[in-house]
Amino acid sequence: MVDAGTWRSIKDETTAQKVTLVAVSKKKPVSDIKELYELGERNFGENYVQELAEKQPLLPADIHWHYIGHLQSNKVKYIAGFVHLIHAVDSFKLLQEINKQASKHNRVIDVLLQLHVAEEETKHGLDNKKLVELMDMHEAQKAEMPNVRICGVMGMATFTDDMEQVRKEFRQIKNMFTFVKDSYFITKDYFNICSMGMSGDYKIAIEEGSTMVRIGSSIFGER
Ligand SMILES: *Cc1c(COP(=O)(O)O)cnc(C)c1O
Repeated sequence: MVDAGTWRSIKDETTAQKVTLVAVSKKKPVSDIKELYELGERNFGENYVQELAEKQPLLPADIHWHYIGHLQSNKVKYIAGFVHLIHAVDSFKLLQEINKQASKHNRVIDVLLQLHVAEEETKHGLDNKKLVELMDMHEAQKAEMPNVRICGVMGMATFTDDMEQVRKEFRQIKNMFTFVKDSYFITKDYFNICSMGMSGDYKIAIEEGSTMVRIGSSIFGER
């Protein structure tokens, strides 16, 4: 069930702060997405390739689909024809595969690099060293990858009640974002997305410089 009031207030709040809201609809039915679409939402986020590939043809074509989950290289082909932004690139191999599949559709696919700052072992993503390695490889081979654009970073904070730790981790993500933006000239023109903040911590994320928040349960209810 869509909480229209909460969506409207988060939408107003994020719009006022020039932050993009992505409504995370994973595990929610097409009818819920339609309901929010009718209210005016156009950015939706999904975590599972099969689920997204099934929902997309049933919904309006002007929806911007954000793929926010962990993506395996062999599944890129199922979403390459329509995905708007892939949030969780964590290897050069995946970047190459996205470029390859995007070229088959004559598209340029925008992506974010997923950073790992949280304490949990289970969260995917690049640490400082791997981030630099990936960016160096990309810089060296950019001419061969015209169908993929690195537009920023995405990160998640540790799942904890300690909001000072959450704030510290968001600050770390933002610092890594700024480092890449300042260090790699080739991406300067479009490297401007810092995707961080979910239902429980998006206000802190915005205070720490988020430009895109991904919010599911506050809008669609518990999963
Ligand atoms: C599920 C999910 C969200 C949304 O989480 P909520 O707590 O429901 O707002 C955001 N980002 C990612 C990567 C997710 O997997």
